[in-house]
Amino acid sequence: MKCPSYPAGEKGKTSLPYVLGRDKLIVVRDVPALVCTQCGESFIESPILKKVEKIVNTVEKSGMTLGFLEYREAA
Ligand SMILES: [Zn+2]
Repeated sequence: MKCPSYPAGEKGKTSLPYVLGRDKLIVVRDVPALVCTQCGESFIESPILKKVEKIVNTVEKSGMTLGFLEYREAA
């Protein structure tokens, strides 16, 4: 959270890529975020981030190595 204009953002959505270990990549799309109107940086509230991490953990355990998830569907 380096941006000085935080939390002056608009509600939007972002994608979060997670690299797990050496060979796993999971991207969670449509994550609700505050998108900065100045620099375009996204800020995600911690309850949402926790939920995303939970989704990623579940997916990791399922053995998926490469994938895209929609936040809404997976939550
Ligand atoms: Zn900014």
